[in-house]
Amino acid sequence: MTTMNTTVLTFPEWPMFDQREQDNLSSVLTSRNWWRMTGTAVEEFERKFAELHGVKHGLAVTNGTHAIELALMALEIGAGDEVIVPAYTFISTATPVFRQGATPVAVDVDPRTLCIDPAAIEQAITEKTKAIIPVHFAGQACDMGRIMEIARKHNLRVIEDAAHAHGGAYMGKPLGSFGDIACYSFQYLKLMSCGEGGALITNDDELMDKLWLYHNVGRPKNDRSYVHSVLGSNYRISEFQAAVLLAQLERLTEQNATRFNGAQELDRLLADVSGLEPLLHRVDSTIHPYYMYMLRYDASEFGGRTREELVDHLKAAGVPAYIGYSAIHHTDVWKEHGGRAMACPVTEAAAKDMIWLHHRVMLGTLEQQEALVNFLVEVQEQWSGN
Ligand SMILES: *Cc1c(COP(=O)(O)O)cnc(C)c1O
Repeated sequence: MTTMNTTVLTFPEWPMFDQREQDNLSSVLTSRNWWRMTGTAVEEFERKFAELHGVKHGLAVTNGTHAIELALMALEIGAGDEVIVPAYTFISTATPVFRQGATPVAVDVDPRTLCIDPAAIEQAITEKTKAIIPVHFAGQACDMGRIMEIARKHNLRVIEDAAHAHGGAYMGKPLGSFGDIACYSFQYLKLMSCGEGGALITNDDELMDKLWLYHNVGRPKNDRSYVHSVLGSNYRISEFQAAVLLAQLERLTEQNATRFNGAQELDRLLADVSGLEPLLHRVDSTIHPYYMYMLRYDASEFGGRTREELVDHLKAAGVPAYIGYSAIHHTDVWKEHGGRAMACPVTEAAAKDMIWLHHRVMLGTLEQQEALVNFLVEVQEQWSGN
């Protein structure tokens, strides 16, 4: 028996925009400088985005997947190399590794944070290992102290997949400034968006030069004589995307603070609700940008109803809820291309029992969050027959 609840819960719309996006777009349009080589918006965005993360260089690119692909190219990772990735992530952490002819190695995550487990990284290292791609999962910081220590000890490069962590910081240092290169996505649902887009940041001048070349069909900056020095492609974005991103960036810091407060409220409101356990917030995380609010679902506290049923129920009530990732090493593409995987029991469990709430829930008011938690409690009472 399913009691269809007619409750409608509301949250702020995403993505957000105001007059700033409209003005920026309009000024690019009327300038006719729609290309990054003639305009200034892309360059201004790159400078400001790098600055926010305390690093020297930024490069805006077509999307987050391409950002990771470019990072691997610049680090010269290819056939015969292995790259360690968390098993619980979006597939784009790993598919660029295959596309470079290298082998991704999936390792398990920490059950408290769902970020890559440093001990699991160490167990997966072989003489072929060239790099690690930690993912700051749902905005939670990876244990970058230990990861960088492991990387130094084994001479590995580190690419931070910060697609969930724009503007985050860990132990007082911006996320994205720990590794050799960090990669971002500005896809529709991310913490800031221009529909599709991505960025890389780095402190390394030489890597920045290479990234530029690869993203610009092998052509150096200000080239006039059709020099093509490497096998790059066209990963450039247009001035229109940067026009939107410049406005989005102005809101990021404040929105991250709002999301954090919203998450703290949800933690408090859910503390007494059994069967929905929020993921830990690391105390050493300075700015936790909360891309998703993560809950571990225990069906036995909900009369044995499945997680999928609860997520469907939440969706019907207007909540942006998701069942989230499956383990990347169980995907067809992984099997077909011969990725390697270590034992990943935490990932296997997370793929079955996590519920994700999109960050616009945390951008909502306290009343909206209370209504959500009340709804969850009502569903639980109905389902468990209490
Ligand atoms: C979104 C995402 C990407 C890829 O970004 P796109 O812009 O969608 O290509 C990579 N890694 C993670 C963890 C992501 O969530």
